[in-house]
Parts: sequence; C-alpha cells; structure tokens
Amino acid sequence: MKDCISKELFERAVQVMPGGVNSPVRAFKAVGGNPLFINRADASRIYDADGNEYIDYVYSWGPLILGHNNSAIREAVTKVAQNGMSFGAPTEAEIKLAEKIISFAPGVEMVRMVNSGTEAVMSAIRLARAYTGRPKVVKFEGCYHGHSDSMLAEGGDTLIAFYNDLTVVEELLKKKDVACVIVEPVTANMGVVLPKEGFLSGLKELCKIYGTLLIFDEVITGFRLGKGGAQEYFGVQADLVTYGKIIGGGMPVGAYGGKKEIMELIAPSGPVYQAGTLSGNPIAMAAGLAQLEALENPDVYSHINKMGEKLARGLSSIVQNSGLKACVNRIGSIACLFFGIENAYDCKSAKKANTKLYASYFHGMLNKGIYLAPSQFEALFISCTHTENEIDQTLDKAEQVIISILQS
Ligand code: PMP
Repeated sequence: MKDCISKELFERAVQVMPGGVNSPVRAFKAVGGNPLFINRADASRIYDADGNEYIDYVYSWGPLILGHNNSAIREAVTKVAQNGMSFGAPTEAEIKLAEKIISFAPGVEMVRMVNSGTEAVMSAIRLARAYTGRPKVVKFEGCYHGHSDSMLAEGGDTLIAFYNDLTVVEELLKKKDVACVIVEPVTANMGVVLPKEGFLSGLKELCKIYGTLLIFDEVITGFRLGKGGAQEYFGVQADLVTYGKIIGGGMPVGAYGGKKEIMELIAPSGPVYQAGTLSGNPIAMAAGLAQLEALENPDVYSHINKMGEKLARGLSSIVQNSGLKACVNRIGSIACLFFGIENAYDCKSAKKANTKLYASYFHGMLNKGIYLAPSQFEALFISCTHTENEIDQTLDKAEQVIISILQS
C-alpha cells in the first residue's frame, strides 16, 4: 500500500488544523499511523490520494446507506445547485423532507432541521428543560451525543447512568429534577452494544412515572434499523428523537422532532430560542429527500441486513475457529468486532476490549484493501452497494489477518 502522498498531505494539514483534521477520530490516533486522504468514492469503494482502492465500511460514519456517490442523490443536488446555494428563507424542500421524516418516524409530528447531530441533541435538551421546567439530564456512560458542553460533562446538571441498567436511572429520576433521559437506543460509540430486553421499555416506563422526557438519539439508528429507526424496531416511542447523518444523504443535516405539544415550544411558535443561518439549506434538503425516497424500497433494508448478518456470522466463526478471544455485536447493518472480550453489554465491559489487537487488525485489513473505522469503539456500516462477493472477500481477508496476528 503506497501512502507517500497521504503522508505529505498530513504533514501540511497538522500545520494549519489542530491534529491535522476537522474531527478527531479521523486522525488514526487510536490505531496509530497516518490518516489516508481520500480523493473520491463510488458505490462501496473509496480511493485515496495515493491511488489505493478500498472496500469501505465507514461510509462517512454512517450517512451513506445507499453507498458512495449515489446517482439519485448526486442528480438531486446538482439540479438544485443550479438555482442557488442558500436563501435564508423558506423553501418547499424543507416541507418535503419534514413530511417524509414524519411519515417514517413513529410519534414524530413536527421536526426542526439543524446542521448536525450535535446541534439536534443540544436543541432537544434545551427543549426538554423548557417543557419540564427542570434542569438535569441523565445520560449513559459511553454513549456519545455530540460535543455540546452538557453532553461531554459529567457532574453538574449532567448525571451519568449505566447502559442496560435501570437501577441507577430510577435513583436519579426519583428526585424529580431531571428534564430528560437521553440514550443511544443501540450504542455505536463504545462499539456496537445492543439494549437488553426490557431496557428501552423500562426507561420509557420510568420516565413516565417521574415526569421526565425520554430522548432517543437516533443519529446512528434512525432510518438505518428500518424506516422507523429504533423506535419502530424495539416498539418503544420516545418523547423526542434526534436525527443526523442519514437524513442528509452525506450533506450536513440534523433534525429533532416529537409531538406538536412539545415542539411548538420552539421559537417562533414558542419561547425556546433555536436558530440556524444554513438550517434547511436547499442542497442538503434535496440530498436528504432523495435518500429517504430511496429508503421507501424495502429491498434496501433486506439487502443491508442480509449482508450485515453474513459478515457478522462469518467474523464470529473466524474468531471461534482461530481460538482468538473476541466477540461480534451486530444489529441490522451495523456491527462491531471486539477483540479480547467475550461480550460487551455496557461501557465497562466494552472498554475492556484489547485496542492494541484492534489496531493490528485495522492495519492488516487496510493493507489488504479494507477500510474499517480507525477505532475499536466505532461501528462498522454496511451499505446497499456491498455485494455478497465483497463480503466474502472481506471475510477471507479478515481470516488471513487474524491468523497472522495470532502467529506474530
Ligand atoms: N449522536 C450520536 C449517537 C452520534 O453517533 C453522533 C456522531 N457520530 C452525534 C450524536 C453527533 O453528530 P454530529 O457528528 O453530526 O454532530
């Protein structure tokens, strides 16, 4: 694998951007080495500045469920770009995307578009505080909800509970000063960790008892676990839902939504101020709408789920046959191979994973043309464009890499 051009670019990048990147995980710090600079991508393949080609399992960290450079999205964006980039005034495209999201998402009657998942979460929390008149927020250790102050803090008004454990949540809610409980219904930021039976419905029940709002952060799971996201998959309806990634088809979009009664507190219909110069940008709306329209075809989900199952099953049997201690967590088209542990059900169990082994696996796979997330604690994403043959190739390579790790 050649990487001199990426190396040169990274040397330039670190001079002008902190750590050489605009989002930390891209810098490969968790696995060592230099990040690859990408020139272009198509379907399931990405191509770096050195001319290497990879089968991608990152897909811009999840939004590209239809694969890279999808023609419907590209055409929609190119068409609206002829009319201007942004007007700072309403457009019909915003209504169309909002209508589409509402038609897919259970219990969502109104949405507000923003520009990222971070913004969606930050705004939903402000709304929950205003609606309940309470200051505190409960989040779960290891869940990521963007980089707003309250979601990176521990202590003060941010209270920490443990994923898949309702006892601490109940203790925290009893004081009746908690505005909302926010959770990734399936976590993707401590690796992929699935909710145990009864966890999400238990949260819903507790929130109801103590007058707290439940926020599902569906930035990863929304429109990925199915059209109705985690709410539909697990049959649990949240009070507010946050979205990002997929609803922008690769453009910077986020949204939050819920019942009219709550959403109408947002300005200008209510007193909760939240705004955005580029929110509802016509190009981003066109990309999002083209993507969600494509997701109306149920074949999308049957394909990605089938490929996800094939990959996860294959990886599990490779690690089992090799005698390596590892486990695979998967749901639908997201998965994670944890090295050095037998199961991951919360942050503490996940964080026992062997990150050095993951780094060796990551580099081994990269050298063989497979682009995985440069961190043990991120998800692997499947898109519509992955073929059975590519999954087989990936499994072959994974087996070779794991054998060579065991021999070293
Ligand atoms: N919530 C979740 C569950 C996420 O995974 C992320 C980002 N990966 C965010 C919020 C923040 O989204 P953004 O990076 O668009 O700000």
